[in-house]
Amino acid sequence: MTPDRQTITCDLAIIGAGPAGMMAAVRASECGARVVLLEKNHMPGIKLLMTGKERCNITNAETDAREFTSRFGKSGKFLMNALYHFGVEDTIEFFHRHKVKTKVERGGRIFPASDRAGDVHELFISAIRKKGVTLLTQCRIDKIILKGNAIESVILKNAVVRSINYLISTGGLSYPRTGSTGDGYTWARQMGHTIIRPQPALTPVLVKEQWIKDLEGLSLKNVRISVYQHNRKKFDRFGEALFTGSGLSGPIILDMSKSIGDLLNSGPADLYIDFKPALDAAQLDKRILRDLDGNRNRSIRNILPRLLPVRLVLLMLKQAGISPDRKGHSITREERIKLRSLLKQFPLTPKGLLGFDKAIITTGGIALNEINPKTMQSKLIRNLYFAGEILDLDGPTGGYNLQVCWSTGYLAGESAAAN
Ligand SMILES: Cc1cc2nc3c(=O)[nH]c(=O)nc-3n(C[C@H](O)[C@H](O)[C@H](O)COP(=O)(O)OP(=O)(O)OC[C@H]3O[C@@H](n4cnc5c(N)ncnc54)[C@H](O)[C@@H]3O)c2cc1C
Repeated sequence: MTPDRQTITCDLAIIGAGPAGMMAAVRASECGARVVLLEKNHMPGIKLLMTGKERCNITNAETDAREFTSRFGKSGKFLMNALYHFGVEDTIEFFHRHKVKTKVERGGRIFPASDRAGDVHELFISAIRKKGVTLLTQCRIDKIILKGNAIESVILKNAVVRSINYLISTGGLSYPRTGSTGDGYTWARQMGHTIIRPQPALTPVLVKEQWIKDLEGLSLKNVRISVYQHNRKKFDRFGEALFTGSGLSGPIILDMSKSIGDLLNSGPADLYIDFKPALDAAQLDKRILRDLDGNRNRSIRNILPRLLPVRLVLLMLKQAGISPDRKGHSITREERIKLRSLLKQFPLTPKGLLGFDKAIITTGGIALNEINPKTMQSKLIRNLYFAGEILDLDGPTGGYNLQVCWSTGYLAGESAAAN
């Protein structure tokens, strides 16, 4: 027997209350639409609360739309309309208007001045309430019913939602424990959409070297990491990295992870850390000589911390084959050169990437050529819209991915409200 279900009617039903869905709900209701927001968790925006190490890197200060979209590779062109409609400056203004002050950090990363992702979350919860959006949490969607090329209703466990328009913003597959389990891909595929294979991106890199676990938690600033294959340099990045128990993470590693994964698919690769990128080999040699000369009777283990984080010293000496108790004056030229080359080219062997559990975002998703970039409306199902990470768009770290949610959510909400 089918249970009796209450019928809820509205102008726009949004499935998925992450950043994209919440922004769409706020904008659509501002435009006068009666909005129902459906979320399967006990509360909206669980992933949002974790963003930027709970500080939420809201967006990036790159205000030039062309420059901004170039960070998304070939798919970036699709974003242009959404960014022109609601771009970085509009986003900052939106947050200020809702009493969340912002600040800019290194690399143009924009955070709430309070350093609290919770403030961004509260902004949306309060805006949703004030605008009269009906928020249904812990709701399980049984089915989406189609009639011709339109959605007729969404069947929940205890209710039927009948809406003029529908928006799917269920995110990707990364950090599935936050609710992003790819449900939207399944529905979209059933409705005829093409799904570009979802893959983990912005994810830590695993390395073969077992001793790396001793360095867990050590962060590196101002290093250059280069990746080679068949002795040829493929790419490099300068900035911050972090040792994990099983490999490397941190901004530059996350940004290179997709390319490292691609490289590993075609064969083994090598990774080198340059701890002193500001000095060339000759300058570094002089610097080491000066440190050794000025500390002739100290042991090398006490001299190296001038050049390296303390936690790396013993490891570096072991790799160089130098006893930590040797005095500065006893280090031979060969040993000095060995140290210099390890400081400039410390080798590690990448063996793979961590999966969706630890990936910041998902690459792949709904094929962009099946969505109207001016409205975010499906070209296949006339009353369906998409927004956020479910789309086949992936940007680097630095606030780019949340901006996709703000821009596409705002545009989709506004378009769906007008239609
Ligand atoms: C640890 C971490 C840190 C990050 N930090 C940053 C950062 O600082 N800056 C940045 O730009 N990006 C960051 N990101 C990426 C960013 O969080 C995502 O790109 C963004 O959350 C995607 O938003 P979304 O609304 O599209 O989807 P999501 O945030 O994934 O939200 C989707 C929502 O849909 C709900 N849902 C799913 N299926 C159903 C269903 N069947 N029924 C009802 N509801 C459903 C989910 O429960 C969830 O609430 C980070 C990601 C992670 C994992």
